[in-house]
Amino acid sequence: MTILESVALGKDRENNKVISKSSYNTKEGKITDKYLTVCPSCNVVWEKVHWRNKILIEYYHEIPRYGKRKEICPECSEKAISKTEY
Ligand SMILES: [Zn+2]
Repeated sequence: MTILESVALGKDRENNKVISKSSYNTKEGKITDKYLTVCPSCNVVWEKVHWRNKILIEYYHEIPRYGKRKEICPECSEKAISKTEY
């Protein structure tokens, strides 16, 4: 595999993981949790969204973090799992 190929693959993987708010503008059938959660590991505000029988994770970088409940986001817990497997 060339360097360029591996870079492209890494980028693709990132794009799949990061779900942007604007990609899912359909409010119909979209149920959000009552509160936002802050990940103490990566410091991002995130939220579980149930949408068409799927669970999506939305990340909000512009929202203040104080007063939110703290929970490790799925991305960090995934990283922690792969670390222990290593
Ligand atoms: Zn996190």
